[in-house]
Amino acid sequence: MNDVQKLSDAISATGNLKPADMAVLAGMGFRGAINNRPDGEAADQPSNAELAQAARDAGLEYRFIPVSSSNLTEAAAATFAQAMTDLPGPVIAFCRSGARSTKLWTMASAMGAKSATYDVVVIGGGASGCAVVSSLHSRRPGLSVAIVEPSETHYYQPGWTMVGGGIFRQSETHRPMKQVIPASATWIASQVTGLDPDANQVTLADGSRLGYRMLVVACGLRTKWEGIEGLEETLGRNGVTSNYRFDLAPYTWELVKGLRSGKALFTQPPMPIKCAGAPQKAMYLSCDHWQRQGVLSNISVEFNTAAPALFGVADFVPPLMAYVNRYNAGLHVTSTLKAVDGPARIATFEIKGADGTIRTEQKSFDMLHVVPPQVPPDFVAQSKLADGSGWLEVSHSTLRHPRFANVFSLGDVCSAPNAKTAAAVRKQAPIVADNLLATLDGKPMPGFYDGYGACPLTVERGKVILAEFGYGGKLLPTFPIDPKKARRLAWFLKASVMPGIYWNLMLRGREWLTACSKQAA
Ligand code: FAD
Repeated sequence: MNDVQKLSDAISATGNLKPADMAVLAGMGFRGAINNRPDGEAADQPSNAELAQAARDAGLEYRFIPVSSSNLTEAAAATFAQAMTDLPGPVIAFCRSGARSTKLWTMASAMGAKSATYDVVVIGGGASGCAVVSSLHSRRPGLSVAIVEPSETHYYQPGWTMVGGGIFRQSETHRPMKQVIPASATWIASQVTGLDPDANQVTLADGSRLGYRMLVVACGLRTKWEGIEGLEETLGRNGVTSNYRFDLAPYTWELVKGLRSGKALFTQPPMPIKCAGAPQKAMYLSCDHWQRQGVLSNISVEFNTAAPALFGVADFVPPLMAYVNRYNAGLHVTSTLKAVDGPARIATFEIKGADGTIRTEQKSFDMLHVVPPQVPPDFVAQSKLADGSGWLEVSHSTLRHPRFANVFSLGDVCSAPNAKTAAAVRKQAPIVADNLLATLDGKPMPGFYDGYGACPLTVERGKVILAEFGYGGKLLPTFPIDPKKARRLAWFLKASVMPGIYWNLMLRGREWLTACSKQAA
């Protein structure tokens, strides 16, 4: 096969393809193909029909736009541009040498680049990006949607707590991105580096721009590991770990299994963070293991949180506190981890007193589970779309931007003050889909978000306190039972049901358990 020349993240060109090459191209990640070579140019040339069949067999969507070198017209370029819009990406265009395909692409781009403008551009192919695209296409299949997502891997982050607790295998918490991104959308495997809402465009890492009619910002948040001095150098070594990184969650379990005595510190940074319960979940599952092994009494356990209380919703504090006491763990509030010296096994905390004074304390450790500070991505914080704290500003009830009516956001990056969880995304995605389509049609927005989020607190192996709540800490239990009680049923949901809901329902636009309490928007 001839060399494949990348023209942009969305399209590459090549020449002289044989039917067998189609499977190779599919293996390289291509999902659409454009044949620009008229039949019968050369005696040994495969026909369009043979190539089309081979492309279909390999799972590629295929278009035939034949042009000769002397017939590179504007009309052909416009047809090419339309095919670029319609086909799933990335696309391979081909002729005898690749030159005609490249020329057509250049002409299409210069003509106003229909190929680079979509009805909807979604930034991020994580939990919220995939869910919202599926919800949009389940309502309006014809919509042209591009997802910009640089990662080859999609992560099920709620599973990392379970990996750190020795319950899930690491392999259960990730899948190749190409299997997860909805096939109905064009995947642009790049990173957004800038937002230009006045021009309805985003800038990609290679400097090219992508136009949109509607924008959905769903790029999550940034874990700021460098915010704790000395942490990055020692993560994964010297007893320092974090369930907030895919590669480190197995190390948490290794450390837990290996610790028979000594001191274990668990930390929580200032809010907001994703899954505010995850820092303490790591502690409970570790303590449960040590208790079962009969070594808990030899281990001094501490939970150091920057927050003034164990949990942000007061109703859940007493039952959680009962577990802190059961495990004989020390609770240290307004205590923020600032620095780690891994080789010396010393953690430095800043502790705020009731009178506002701040003192520094150094604590030794044998195991340290760290949750890093969490911030909006830089390109969001530096844009016109950010609120005063750098999060993507939205109306809390409609999830639409207050000044740019064609911009929506959901998931961890948006400014709504809900618990940043995949459970929140499950509710937000259909609301954004409804409200975005209504905006596109010039109609009132029907969707109203009540701030629902959920935090399954794994207080022991086999039992979970399922904290479900909305704005202002209002309890929003799915089931009509006391949500403050640790239950086996909730563990079953967390360990056995939720992963399936995530992969098979939420990411695919099957909107199970998504209704929000109704109120006028
Ligand atoms: P993400 O899923 O993080 O996806 C963001 C995507 O955007 C990524 O794929 C990223 O590559 C992409 N991206 C980033 N920057 C750019 C850019 N510049 N251009 C284009 N793309 C970009 N939730 C629960 O509901 N229950 C739980 O029990 C739970 N436990 C958790 C435990 C842990 C340890 C962690 C870390 C999280 C947990 N969560 C839990 C939270 C949940 O995983 C997140 O809230 C959810 O993944 C948010 O979805 P998102 O799409 O906003 O962000």
